[in-house]
Amino acid sequence: MTQKDYRILLYYKYIAIEDPVAFAEEHLAVCQEIGLLGRILVGYEGINGTVSGTVEQTDAYMNHMEADPRFSDIMWKIDEAEGHAFKKMHVRPRREIVHLGLNDDINPLEITGDYLSPKEFMERMQEDNTVIIDARNDYEYDLGHFRGAVRPDIENFRDLPAWMEARKEDFADKKILTYCTGGIRCEKFSGWLKREGYGESVGQLHGGIATYAKDSEVKGQLWDGQMFVFDRRRSVPINQVEHAIVGKDFFTGEPTERYTNCANPECHKLMLCEEKHESFYMRSCSDECRRAERNFFVEKNGWTKEQIEEQIAKIAVVQNSFL
Ligand SMILES: [Zn+2]
Repeated sequence: MTQKDYRILLYYKYIAIEDPVAFAEEHLAVCQEIGLLGRILVGYEGINGTVSGTVEQTDAYMNHMEADPRFSDIMWKIDEAEGHAFKKMHVRPRREIVHLGLNDDINPLEITGDYLSPKEFMERMQEDNTVIIDARNDYEYDLGHFRGAVRPDIENFRDLPAWMEARKEDFADKKILTYCTGGIRCEKFSGWLKREGYGESVGQLHGGIATYAKDSEVKGQLWDGQMFVFDRRRSVPINQVEHAIVGKDFFTGEPTERYTNCANPECHKLMLCEEKHESFYMRSCSDECRRAERNFFVEKNGWTKEQIEEQIAKIAVVQNSFL
C-alpha cells in the first residue's frame, strides 16, 4: 500500500434540504454501500462532512454527490492519506449544520462576507487597518493560526457573537477578515458580522485554511503552527515555506505540537503535551482528574490512593515554582 491509496474529503454546501432526517438515512446507506468512514451533518440549511476512503471510494462518493444538481458545485478539499481517518460512518440530522447560537440565524445564501481567494486573502492580511479574526475554537487557534490573528477567548464557536458584541467599538473602522478550517463557519459568522454592521468591510477566506494550504501561489504563507483537524490525524501542516511552532505544552509551556487526552475518561480534555511530561503529570489536566475514579493512567500503572496523593504533592511543588 502506498501513501496515496486513501483520501480524506472535507466539504460543505449551504443549500435547502427539505427533510434532513430522511436525507440522512438514505445518505448513510449510500456511504456504507461505498465503504466510506466519517462524519456528516445534514440540516435544513445544507450538508457538512469529512469522510475517508480509498481513491476509488472517494471518487464514487464525489460522483454520487455531483450527480445531484444541489451539490454539483461542491468545493472539495482533498487530502491524501495512509488510511482511514475515522472508525465509523455517521450521518446525523441536525437543526443547524453550523451552530452560532443565534435566535435569528444567518442564511449565508442571503448574506455573507466577501469571498476572498487565497491570494486575495494573503494580500489583504498585510494591508493597514485590517483585523483578522479566527472563527474557530480556542484550542484550534492554540495549535496554529494566521500571523497576527485575533484569538477570541471562547471555548465554543456559539459564544463568538457575544464575545464580539462586547468589543464592537474596537472593530468599527476596521477592515475585518475572518477564516476557519474549511470555510463553513465563516460563511455564517461573516454574514452575521455584516448584518450587525461590524467594520468597514467583511472578508472571508473562501474554502478555508484547507484550500489556502494547497494554493500553489500562497503556499500557506503567513500561517504559523499547524492546523487542528477533527479526525484521527489531529493536525496537518499548512505553511509550505516555513514552520514556526506556536503550540505550547499544557503543563510546562514548552513548544510542542503533540496532542493527548486527559486520562480521566469523564473529562477527556484535549491537551498539547510532550510525551516526556505525561507520566509526571499523570496525563491529567487537574488534581480533580488525577483523583478521578476511572483515571486510565492510574489504572494502567496500578497506583494506590497514596501514590496518587504523593504525585499530586510533587506536581504542586513544581507548579508553585512556576508562579
Ligand atoms: Zn481532565
